[in-house]
Amino acid sequence: MGKLNDNRVFCPHCGADLQGDPIPEEIQHHYGATHSSRKIGISSMKEDCVIKWQCPDCKGQWKRKL
Ligand SMILES: [Zn+2]
Repeated sequence: MGKLNDNRVFCPHCGADLQGDPIPEEIQHHYGATHSSRKIGISSMKEDCVIKWQCPDCKGQWKRKL
């Protein structure tokens, strides 16, 4: 099994730590992550996938890195 994602990311606008709550160890493998994320996914109507992220603190948006 690969390394679990700790979702440790910072808002490029305000620098807020967007790491969310810890995920209980016994279900971490379902998510492939040790923590949830506070960033908000903005989907494209056309492509039906997340194309941008939004910071819940400053509402700033940035492009999703693919
Ligand atoms: Zn922010």
